Amino acid sequence: ELYNKMLELKGNIRVFCRCRPLNTEEIASGASMVVDFESAKDGELIVKSNGAPRRIFKFDAVFGPQANQGDVFEDTAPFAASVLDGYNVCIFAYGQTGTGKTFTMEGTEGARGVNYRILEELFRLTKERQKLHRYKVSVSVLEVYNEQIRDLLVSGSQSGNSAKRLEVRQISEGIHHVPGMVEAPVDNMNEVWEVLQTGSNARAVGSTNCNEHSSRSHCIHCVMVKGENLLNGECTSSKLWLVDLAGSERIAKVEVQVERLKETQNINRSLSALGDVISALATKSPHVPFRNSKLTHLLQDSLGGDSKTLMFVQISPNENDLNETLCSLNFASRVR
Ligand code: ADP
Ligand code: MG
Repeated sequence: ELYNKMLELKGNIRVFCRCRPLNTEEIASGASMVVDFESAKDGELIVKSNGAPRRIFKFDAVFGPQANQGDVFEDTAPFAASVLDGYNVCIFAYGQTGTGKTFTMEGTEGARGVNYRILEELFRLTKERQKLHRYKVSVSVLEVYNEQIRDLLVSGSQSGNSAKRLEVRQISEGIHHVPGMVEAPVDNMNEVWEVLQTGSNARAVGSTNCNEHSSRSHCIHCVMVKGENLLNGECTSSKLWLVDLAGSERIAKVEVQVERLKETQNINRSLSALGDVISALATKSPHVPFRNSKLTHLLQDSLGGDSKTLMFVQISPNENDLNETLCSLNFASRVR
């Protein structure tokens, strides 16, 4: 049996694995599961397929097809307190298209995901702490597509070409900023919901094929929290990044047009740049290559140091997806 050397927790990086259920079409076509949830112990993910040896992967948490949004959030909620305590936090969903990245992060109206729930938890905690602390919260929604940053809260940003391009600027040592980015102040969950909807709608409108577009772009929410301790006047400023990454699948099979090829190269580049950065941080490498992609450049202040990172590795249980599943699981072992 192959056993990942992933037992030892490195720094502030957590990796959760979530496996979606087989969908109705897969069940109807008699697809078989390659993930074994029966014999897996806590934190284990077992992949077994005909002929190949069983492989065991270890994670900080594993969520099988039965796990609901509430179960997943239970282990994610503590990051809200970290943000209020002044830590920067990045939460990513990584995986092949169709494995539930958007389901985990955005969710549906009846089954809300991490984005909504963590903001709800943030506001619950600010109320709990209001005798001693005052907090100001604002939200930005960005998209990185083809190495270009687009602001999804700017009205009219839908019209792809005329959209204002944003850039990352270093304003002082260790402080990066995106000049011109809309930061919508939010005071309660109604306002949060409105902002999330605006961003989500802008993303959909900007493209002829919404699914295809969303599988090729990174959708990024940035929650900025400014806190003041009312007793000693101490101030904190922290960021929570919620990132629904582009699909990690390699597009070898697909017809490759020139435009597609460029897109694909950009996606691969930014996902491997993210892997390089997180793995450099995990191994405490002296050089962390933040500048290799827009995404890592954007998140630079919030990766490493004392910031906390949570990566959801999303997988399919379907035997037909086995190759992509193994790629995602291997990516996950690189970043831990
Ligand atoms: P991705 O964003 O990775 O491309 P989606 O989030 O769009 O994938 O998920 C693909 C489909 O599978 C959606 O219809 C979604 O609702 C469904 N799905 C994903 N994960 C789950 C889950 N854990 N439970 C139920 N349905 C899920
Ligand atoms: Mg998606």
